[in-house]
Amino acid sequence: MKTTHHDLIILGAGPAGLSAGLYAARARIDHLLIEKGAAGGQILLTDWIDNYPGFPDGLSGFELAEKMEAQARRFGLNTLTANVISINLLQTPKTLTLEDGSEFSCNTLILCTGARARRLGVPGEIEFTGKGVSYCATCDAPFYRDMHVAVVGGGNSAVQEAAHLTKFASRVTLIHRRDALRATKIVQERAFANDRIDFIWNSQVTAIEGEKGVERLRLRDTAGQESTLAVDGIFILIGVLPNNEILPLQLLKAEDGGFIPTDNETCTAVPGVFAAGDIRNKRVRQIVNAAGEGATAVLTAEHYLNNLNS
Ligand SMILES: Cc1cc2nc3c(=O)[nH]c(=O)nc-3n(C[C@H](O)[C@H](O)[C@H](O)COP(=O)(O)OP(=O)(O)OC[C@H]3O[C@@H](n4cnc5c(N)ncnc54)[C@H](O)[C@@H]3O)c2cc1C
Repeated sequence: MKTTHHDLIILGAGPAGLSAGLYAARARIDHLLIEKGAAGGQILLTDWIDNYPGFPDGLSGFELAEKMEAQARRFGLNTLTANVISINLLQTPKTLTLEDGSEFSCNTLILCTGARARRLGVPGEIEFTGKGVSYCATCDAPFYRDMHVAVVGGGNSAVQEAAHLTKFASRVTLIHRRDALRATKIVQERAFANDRIDFIWNSQVTAIEGEKGVERLRLRDTAGQESTLAVDGIFILIGVLPNNEILPLQLLKAEDGGFIPTDNETCTAVPGVFAAGDIRNKRVRQIVNAAGEGATAVLTAEHYLNNLNS
């Protein structure tokens, strides 16, 4: 089967990939952006975005995705809708195989496959995502001014985000399935000292209920006792999973649950392979830094290509 070659392939069209696509198209790099679904990635799941610069009134995730794609298309963005099922980074050029068996090769590859929030998997969770169910306090806390919200989780990010939420919500109830938090001691101490945070121990959320939005949670404790908690929202902060199933993790020296480490210029452990956005091993996962990293990755890849050709 014939292999189609490009100087640069970008994998994934979330904010990181679309930004990379914009920079590649404007720089007139021979490129291809491959995405298995609709362009936009996680922002397509985002009801409203208030923290992306340049949009003083905010905008929906769908609108931002459309604008990012249209901007890149204006400069000749080259895209393919396909599911990449395997990547070979051991050979030169690097090759990618698609679900239909066709093969693409490239001198440089930017991984922008993103991540997804770990879900609770309870009734009401999907139905109310964006209507009271959130996976990101940094993104959504300001929508809960003077309201009562629950946080599910017991690690550093859950406890820190619970503290962040108290700047807006009047009451934050942290629900944990064990009798002790996993967060570091100092983070725990600050949370225990915060009089806006209360705790429900040894309990799990079994359902999220309401009419148009979240109104209450059904809980079950380890002794089997059922109860109901009235809330205006629930933040599920039980971890983020990388979309890394097709990545050669050993070669890329993946760490921390499968995220890809890079240097400041987005270079991975494999020469000519770069990573941008939520797939990178980093603490902050936001649209603005995903877009920034996509741009950095293309500029670094361009430098690599220039050296390759000189
Ligand atoms: C509900 C929700 C609300 C959020 N709200 C905000 C907010 O208000 N503000 C903010 O700054 N951030 C917010 N975030 C976080 C933000 O959406 C992410 O940080 C950002 O989308 C990361 O961009 P990315 O391009 O790295 O990855 P993603 O957006 O995850 O995109 C990755 C893309 O890669 C594609 N892909 C993966 N594997 C393959 C494959 N094998 N073949 C082809 N394509 C593939 C996926 O289909 C996807 O389109 C929110 C996240 C969620 C889930």
